[in-house]
Amino acid sequence: MSAKLLSPDQAAAQIARWRRDGKKTVAVSGSFDILHQGHMNLLSEARAGGDALLVLLNSDASVRAYKGPGRPLAAQETRAAQLAALPMVDAVVLFDEVVPLGLLEKLKPDILANGPDYGPDCIERPVVESWGGRILMTSPRTGANSTSAIAQRLGVAPNPRAVLLDRDGTLVEDPGYLSRPEQLVWKEGAADALKRLSEAGFLLIVITNQSGIGRGLFSKTDMEQVHQRLQGDLAKAGVTLKAIYHCPHRPEEACACRKPGTGLLLQAGSEHGLDLSKSWMVGDKCSDIEAGRMANMRTALVYSKASCRPAPHVIAPTLTAAAEAILSESNV
Ligand SMILES: [Zn+2]
Repeated sequence: MSAKLLSPDQAAAQIARWRRDGKKTVAVSGSFDILHQGHMNLLSEARAGGDALLVLLNSDASVRAYKGPGRPLAAQETRAAQLAALPMVDAVVLFDEVVPLGLLEKLKPDILANGPDYGPDCIERPVVESWGGRILMTSPRTGANSTSAIAQRLGVAPNPRAVLLDRDGTLVEDPGYLSRPEQLVWKEGAADALKRLSEAGFLLIVITNQSGIGRGLFSKTDMEQVHQRLQGDLAKAGVTLKAIYHCPHRPEEACACRKPGTGLLLQAGSEHGLDLSKSWMVGDKCSDIEAGRMANMRTALVYSKASCRPAPHVIAPTLTAAAEAILSESNV
């Protein structure tokens, strides 16, 4: 075991010592699965942004949660040991969250280095700025410099990607507590947009908050009848929904499944073996965007003028426009 592998408590103490010595700590997080040139560039850029480099390393369980089965390719002991062997890395800490907000809160590094895919409005930003820290944006990575590209060359089949869709206000009009099939009014072009995404290989999964059930306004059976119509209409258009996940709870119940909670997104990821990092969450509310960001997904805000923090990756006036943006970003 390298002396650079630290527990969260040890890392907090180490950062405090560095701070006493006038050294600024740069943290960088990721799965660092099969170290490659892209990782080296990221690490050296991050190290150059301060005086000591701390790598927050996704545990095997957390990589599996957002990259799907078969990942990581290298176990956490190997990934940690490889990072610790690099002279530019000063310390390594493992974490189980998908996005290490809890660990960052505990460690309070001066700088968090983040790739540009996550944007200047990354989900960690408000957290890091809350103690006067800042985000250091690193240079873009090229496609060849990714573990997925290496895995593909090794013949490892990629995990499926999906578009996770909010229901009310995204696929269909939101009359407030939609509970009967005859109330269902499709957003214009929704079925065509879904068809294009499906033909490009994305699984389609609905993720919906249905607190009307918890409030006693309608029953689960009512909701299921709405979903039968939803799926029936789509089937006529030649589109298959892989699954529909719903949260029946009221906000006060503080469950893990109500968006912006990530419970249903991670459940969908696990049950369908998805690569969430290459999947999209699409919705009309900031809670959809926050949930997607916290599950390490790409995000698109539709039919909304809200300015969300964290910001969505894509803002589109319609589902049709969102589908086009998704297809062009995904090179399909
Ligand atoms: Zn819930």
